[in-house]
Amino acid sequence: MNQAYIALGSNIEPRLEYLQLAIQRLKEHRSIQIKKVSGIYETAPVGFTDQNDFLNMAARIETTLSPPLELLDTCQEIEHSLGRKREIKWGGPRTIDLDILLYNQENIETERLTLPHPSMHERAFVLMPLMDINHHLYLSHIEKDVSTLISEMSLKEKEGVVQCNKIDGGKRIKAYRKLKGYTQIGFAKELGMSVSQLGDIERGKRVPTLETLEKISEQLDISIQELEPKK
Ligand code: AMP
Repeated sequence: MNQAYIALGSNIEPRLEYLQLAIQRLKEHRSIQIKKVSGIYETAPVGFTDQNDFLNMAARIETTLSPPLELLDTCQEIEHSLGRKREIKWGGPRTIDLDILLYNQENIETERLTLPHPSMHERAFVLMPLMDINHHLYLSHIEKDVSTLISEMSLKEKEGVVQCNKIDGGKRIKAYRKLKGYTQIGFAKELGMSVSQLGDIERGKRVPTLETLEKISEQLDISIQELEPKK
């Protein structure tokens, strides 16, 4: 089985729904298994800056799609199916962007695919979600692990990447839970998590994964956009 890491980003509303749909498509693919997803982060755009902020996340997958170009084809099919248009070639607004960060330990440089992704180690909006998935992920091409790379970044770079649904979202989840008459114990049970885990989410101490957000939105019968951070 091949191990790969994928970075996802969206900056056209409904951003959270695009991320959710892309994860769902990856999940539904018969040759892909999602092993872990990160929390969701909001990031100011890099490069072409006159556009909306992005929501970014990452996923670790296992796949029988091989060579990695087959995985790229699948990622591009998902982008296409979710309405991605390539108007501005690099860094422009997009409903959804799927980048392959790593595929096993492969080093590839072709016209269509560069692996590891060439700028992954320089971008806080890629590294911070990756750290959620695996603190110790070692990038052999630069001989550093993810947490070291983040610790070497400037505060300014890191502050530009904000954990979403942390404080604001947690309060909203709590308010909706009470509104629907769930106790914290009862609601944690419905979500399949411990009371202390739910408490951490509600207090803004833990970032819910996309999967948890989906469960919460289903359980409380509110749209997932309601759980998006409000500006
Ligand atoms: P972007 O606008 O960032 O989505 O760039 C898309 C282009 O980057 C596509 O034409 C891909 O063929 C190319 N590309 C090169 N390496 C990668 C990679 N590791 N993951 C995704 N796209 C890649």
